[in-house]
Amino acid sequence: MSLTNTDLHSSLKKYFGFSKFKGLQEDVIQNVLGDNDTFVIMPTGGGKSLCYQLPAIMKEGTAIVVSPLIALMKNQVDAIRGISEQNGIAHVLNSSLTKTEVRQVKEDITNGVTKLLYVAPESLTKEENVDFLKKVKLSFVAVDEAHCISEWGHDFRPEYRNLRGIINRLGDNIPIIGLTATATPKVQEDIIKNLGMTDAKVFKASFNRPNLFYEVRPKTKDVDADIIRFVKQNQGKSGIIYCLSRKRVEELAQVLQVNGVSAVPYHAGFDAKTRSKYQDMFLMEEVDVVVATIAFGMGIDKPDVRFVIHHDIPKSIESYYQETGRAGRDGGEGHCLAYYAYKDVEKLEKFMSGKPVAEQEIGNALLQEIVAYAETSISRRKFILHYFGEDFDEVNGEGADMDDNSRNPKPKEEAMDEVVK
Ligand code: ADP
Ligand code: MG
Repeated sequence: MSLTNTDLHSSLKKYFGFSKFKGLQEDVIQNVLGDNDTFVIMPTGGGKSLCYQLPAIMKEGTAIVVSPLIALMKNQVDAIRGISEQNGIAHVLNSSLTKTEVRQVKEDITNGVTKLLYVAPESLTKEENVDFLKKVKLSFVAVDEAHCISEWGHDFRPEYRNLRGIINRLGDNIPIIGLTATATPKVQEDIIKNLGMTDAKVFKASFNRPNLFYEVRPKTKDVDADIIRFVKQNQGKSGIIYCLSRKRVEELAQVLQVNGVSAVPYHAGFDAKTRSKYQDMFLMEEVDVVVATIAFGMGIDKPDVRFVIHHDIPKSIESYYQETGRAGRDGGEGHCLAYYAYKDVEKLEKFMSGKPVAEQEIGNALLQEIVAYAETSISRRKFILHYFGEDFDEVNGEGADMDDNSRNPKPKEEAMDEVVK
């Protein structure tokens, strides 16, 4: 299929109401429309979904979208249905459907109405679904959150490893598009190898967030007082404070409240009603600060979060990048402050000690990277981007002076020490 840029833009406008493509979207979409294998690596919020949604709508046949979370699939299906007269344009196929619903889905696919079929990997492996899908016209298979394939990713799902075999059974030469926000070279290699995409064209967006300021402070027994001071200096601004344990979340929220900071706690131990109440209070700016475990953040889209504090060091650079990434979405200021004490690392190691050996080894390797980040004296932005396989010019790059080490370089000998080590 060959399409002019005008065709593409008018489809973008017609179906999604956007007047221009974001970042690499247009190149990616051209590649998918050309029936080539495609690998897309873009940070969260980069606009990956459109890279398969638009070509799926434009191409003949049904695109299968593999996605790990039912909630994510439902959101996307609802959004796609909103752009069309035809409800059947997008469907989810999973085990919760009734017989009648399954019949409807199959009918819509057979009649060429369904452009996007969302499935969890475990539904795709079901024999009856494979039998049905190999008989219909498929445009391509999109594997969203493709890092789930890799044990080095933050969300390993063994079922993702069977996808290649299934896709082979669905037909010959079905193009694949893999998408992820995990930029580490190890995870990328795993994805390419496991999905058999050695010939895929790779599209990788930059992970640099030049408006975020990165800082690490040593964690002492006065950490709470230090946080209170920081928050008071930033009064009226929205911020998230991450703690490792639920207990600490509640304690710190209380300490902040007692000290006149408007804060709410958030963790998965609260019931759904309480959680959504606190979340709304933060989103509606009835409070400035939410003190939370990592349960808070998935799908939260508050553009003007001005600081993200880590009371405890996170378990990997990957997690740190995701969590700090919630600051400064609007392009404005975003201060990312982490408190670091080696004994917290030992705590994280202890958490892992009950797990299978292979998992522990990976967990420890990831942990050593975040320790190196905390202890480094080079540009923190350079460190993070290097971890993601990206070069960063710490003198002229965008955001070059936006971290503690670049603003206040350590004495030369000390810095040299760390480079050698
Ligand atoms: P990702 O999957 O990469 O995290 P999404 O696909 O969820 O990102 O998209 C993030 C946001 O960007 C969504 O709100 C989406 O509507 C928006 N978006 C995507 N493409 C465009 C575009 N070309 N113009 C404007 N907004 C866009
Ligand atoms: Mg996505």
